[in-house]
Amino acid sequence: MYYEKDASLHDIDGEVVAVIGYGIQGKAFAANLRDSGIPVIVGNRADAYREAALRDGFETQSIIDAVKGASIVILLIPDEAHPDVYDAQIRPHLDEGDLFVVAHGFSLRFERIVLPANVDVALLAPKMFGKPIRQRYLEGSGVLAFIDVIQDASSRALRRTLGVSQAMGFTRYGVLPVSHATETELDLFQEQFLTPLLLDTFRIAFEVLVEAGYDPIPSLLDMHASGEMAEMMAEAASSGLYEVIEQQGSPTCRFGVQRYLGKLIGEEVKGKGKDILQDIRSGGFVEALSKEAEAGYPSLSEYQALYQASDVTKTHDRYRDILGSR
Ligand code: NDP
Repeated sequence: MYYEKDASLHDIDGEVVAVIGYGIQGKAFAANLRDSGIPVIVGNRADAYREAALRDGFETQSIIDAVKGASIVILLIPDEAHPDVYDAQIRPHLDEGDLFVVAHGFSLRFERIVLPANVDVALLAPKMFGKPIRQRYLEGSGVLAFIDVIQDASSRALRRTLGVSQAMGFTRYGVLPVSHATETELDLFQEQFLTPLLLDTFRIAFEVLVEAGYDPIPSLLDMHASGEMAEMMAEAASSGLYEVIEQQGSPTCRFGVQRYLGKLIGEEVKGKGKDILQDIRSGGFVEALSKEAEAGYPSLSEYQALYQASDVTKTHDRYRDILGSR
């Protein structure tokens, strides 16, 4: 793990960083780098995102001009847009010795973009969305990030990427070396296995209660909308998955938990997890994603219609209305 003592802003002295994209990650990267004294150019199409960067006081240019004006290029647009944007607007303008950084290994792991041999290439993947990255930086702390040097043309790729990590506040928390392939596969597995499992679990818990005649609003609140479960998971992230129950749970709670732990889901679900992981690693998911994108994301529309029509979403909307009337 790399910490503050392992990194130095001097390793990126005199360098200009092009932050390509001003969305969830781009906004946080641009702001933290600037506050650490690093010159930043935001590269974006001329639209609302670019307007936002201008309003926030950034020098803002087209993607091509930002790449031309920088020696460190951080690509922070959605992964599915990487190949087209990279091929047309970035690759032709990368100079020898530039450092090219991605925040997720997807495009490199699945060889959707091909980097010239004369540039440094690194993964610097924050394990957090943009708002907390900015918030923690302002509070004087940081978030975890994974780091991987994929190409080291300058012999300084790691030092430079650690310099960026420090400017982002990541070394305040810790930066863990993890290969870009592993980072990609873990991230996709979390999205495809753990996230649906958690969302479906909350929905099923809600449905069991409502079908048994309980009022939907308190049911929704007690299952997840009060934020208590989220706090428990936040606590578990630091103290440990089971320790949080030991430390925070009453004997009644602990007895209830142990009564069913390991009995509700088991080998069948684990088997599905293994299948999903295999699909990710073999490239099956990427192939399916490409077909979905070519067809205009029909499954996404179906999923939106499904969740908008669900009782759990309707109850949440009602709950928001109640809160709004405070
Ligand atoms: P966003 O969806 O927030 O990115 C929006 C930005 O991308 C806007 O500036 C948008 O500008 C630009 N953009 C979108 N499509 C295109 C396009 N076709 N051509 C040019 N610009 C485009 O992305 P995120 O910040 O969520 O993700 C950025 C990267 O960070 C990804 O690689 C992601 O995997 C990674 N990451 C994301 C995390 C997260 O929490 N979201 C966590 C860790 C890593 P406009 O549409 O105006 O062109």
